[in-house]
Amino acid sequence: MNDILPSESAKWEWLEDKVRNLMARFAYRNTRLPIVESTALFVRGLGEVTDIVEKEMYSFEDRADKHGQAEHLTLRPEGTAGLVRAVVEHNMLYEGGKRLYYMGPMFRREKPQRGRYRQFHQIGAEALGFPGAEVDAELILLAHSLWQEIGLQNVELQLNSLGQPEERKAHRAALIEYLEKNVDQLDEDARRRLYSNPLRILDTKNPAMQDLVNAAPRLFDFLGEASLKHFDAVKAILDANGVKWTLNTRLVRGMDYYNLTVFEFVTTQLGSQGTICGGGRYDYLIEQVGGKPAPAVGWALGVERVLELLKEQEQSTPDLVPDAYAIVPDAGTLPTVMAALQTLRVAGVSVQMHTPTTAGEGMGSMKSQFKKADASGARFGLIFGADEMARGAVTVKSLRDGDGQQVEQQLASIDQWAATLRVAG
Ligand code: ATP
Ligand code: MG
Repeated sequence: MNDILPSESAKWEWLEDKVRNLMARFAYRNTRLPIVESTALFVRGLGEVTDIVEKEMYSFEDRADKHGQAEHLTLRPEGTAGLVRAVVEHNMLYEGGKRLYYMGPMFRREKPQRGRYRQFHQIGAEALGFPGAEVDAELILLAHSLWQEIGLQNVELQLNSLGQPEERKAHRAALIEYLEKNVDQLDEDARRRLYSNPLRILDTKNPAMQDLVNAAPRLFDFLGEASLKHFDAVKAILDANGVKWTLNTRLVRGMDYYNLTVFEFVTTQLGSQGTICGGGRYDYLIEQVGGKPAPAVGWALGVERVLELLKEQEQSTPDLVPDAYAIVPDAGTLPTVMAALQTLRVAGVSVQMHTPTTAGEGMGSMKSQFKKADASGARFGLIFGADEMARGAVTVKSLRDGDGQQVEQQLASIDQWAATLRVAG
């Protein structure tokens, strides 16, 4: 679990702002949901034989209530199950479909390594109540637009279709037959999943099993006409938008709840943690967690991985620096100075005031104050010296331009010159 300190958090806020802005343009609305949900929700929603439910959840028993009953609770390992719970609980699909998004921490007890943490952050987008392929495509376009707007490059979109339950059943039988014939080549995980979740065996990262899974029966070859039509409709929209994709028939995703379209955005620049965003259609999950049957589709991206990839690609993200730094030689002037700074802030200027860190030693020398002003990154120094203050004024000195230009401005007319201090103008 990481501490995100100011040197990093400016990037986080920048990314979150980009996301908020983009979501608004796609008409997705924000939700803020609990971090703790009942354990049963995830067991039912994600599937019992998944990595997350089998070994990655932080679960605990709550204190017993007065009847001696204690609830089993879990820190959310992903956002979809909780979102669906909320949608059902608040009957949100009553008047039609909903387009929603969320951002926040998720928890999985995994082996920590680069791009894989125990508390990590996801941004997710979900469209619920819409059965059509156009919504699958819209969500992919939404993610694709985000990469463009933050300047992320070289992310590959991989697509697959997991078809419908009937098609999966036929494929499953063929797959089990194939795996049974080659049971001596299965690792321990695969043997355990042979009958409970054979599809997930295809997702193995074990190098020794790659030949075996490459030659296994492909679910894609079991898809019927309707599933293929849905898949083609998604592709047609992506093609019309110039979004490149590749078919990855081995893409199955970690959760049981997917059907039809599944997709991942992957990069080769983050070592083995190369998936920055994954999602797909999950038409049976809402019913699974107790709602009226309704289709849905969504994705989630890993914030840490996206930021890591931006860094890897040396894509600059803006630093948060104040517009101005107030230099105050005499503590006796603080009431007047702080009233002036307040007026500037109300006018939209960000100002950092020089503040001593040692008690009883005054405000410090001009030299040391200028040093601090430089270090702050501010574009302007506001010098509240005795001479100019006697004239009801402040000196505004450019700290960034080489010539150190300065002008005297009247404190009584701050509103008229405040905008000249703002970086954005
Ligand atoms: P992986 O195959 O890398 O384990 P996943 O399929 O478990 O990923 P999802 O559950 O689909 O991941 O979550 C969506 C995204 O969240 C991932 O694509 C990834 O970017 C990010 N993510 C998942 N687990 C972690 C983690 N432990 N630490 C950081 N980011 C993560
Ligand atoms: Mg995982």
